[in-house]
Amino acid sequence: MMYDSIGRREHEWAGLTAAEVREVGAKPGSILVIPVGSIEQHGEHLPVVTDSLLVEAMVDSAVEQTDGLPVVVSPTVWSGFSPHHLTFGGTLSLDFETIRATLEDIAHTGLQNDFDAVLFVNGHGGNGPLIGSVVSTVGVETDAEVLGTTYFELATDRIEALRDTETGGMAHGGEFETSLMLAVRPDLVGDSSTRNGEPLNESYRWSGQDLLDGGSVSVYRSFDTYSETGAIGLPEEASAEKGERIRSIIAEELASLLDAVHEQNA
Ligand SMILES: [Zn+2]
Repeated sequence: MMYDSIGRREHEWAGLTAAEVREVGAKPGSILVIPVGSIEQHGEHLPVVTDSLLVEAMVDSAVEQTDGLPVVVSPTVWSGFSPHHLTFGGTLSLDFETIRATLEDIAHTGLQNDFDAVLFVNGHGGNGPLIGSVVSTVGVETDAEVLGTTYFELATDRIEALRDTETGGMAHGGEFETSLMLAVRPDLVGDSSTRNGEPLNESYRWSGQDLLDGGSVSVYRSFDTYSETGAIGLPEEASAEKGERIRSIIAEELASLLDAVHEQNA
């Protein structure tokens, strides 16, 4: 996301020449990965870039583990669908149709480089339905395989085993995201006096209770109905060690998915 950190690495779209992108795309089983984040309030202790930064870090860690797979990662789509956060300020959101069209256009133009598959990796709960939509709308228009995932839903059983909070503690800016940020970019995390959240208290038991428990009923709520600080969950239970373990679980799972997609399309 920060242009001065772009590497001339095999996997990083922005640092490659056009010919190099086409070269990877032409390989059997090639995959275009499109990380999708958001810029939105994350309570008093985390920066607004949290979702974009974390999804990018998870994809990076996963791709590092794939041994020579023909994968190229596009620059992270930094804005998402976040109207439910606007009342707190600090949020730069796109209209649903705008971001849908943006993701479709990025996928379609990216696929012109001959990739065999495209995988959207999402880092923000509010983008979930969008990712599902574009898997369908891009999928009907291309012969490439189209897939989507939200990274924190990839390995929920294994992450459940690491948590110190009850369900409700790993919601927006809570134990989970704060731990990952302490592992990935501790310099951007506020000190303990700012880590103020409250467990997610959703009135319908069928609806989402946590990042790890998305629920079977969708309901739209502005986040000021859940929390005064904007953080939902218990960031005071976060630690860098836990964040490292969560990161390695997610990276492993995402790397396995990339392997499987490669094999399926090679
Ligand atoms: Zn977040």
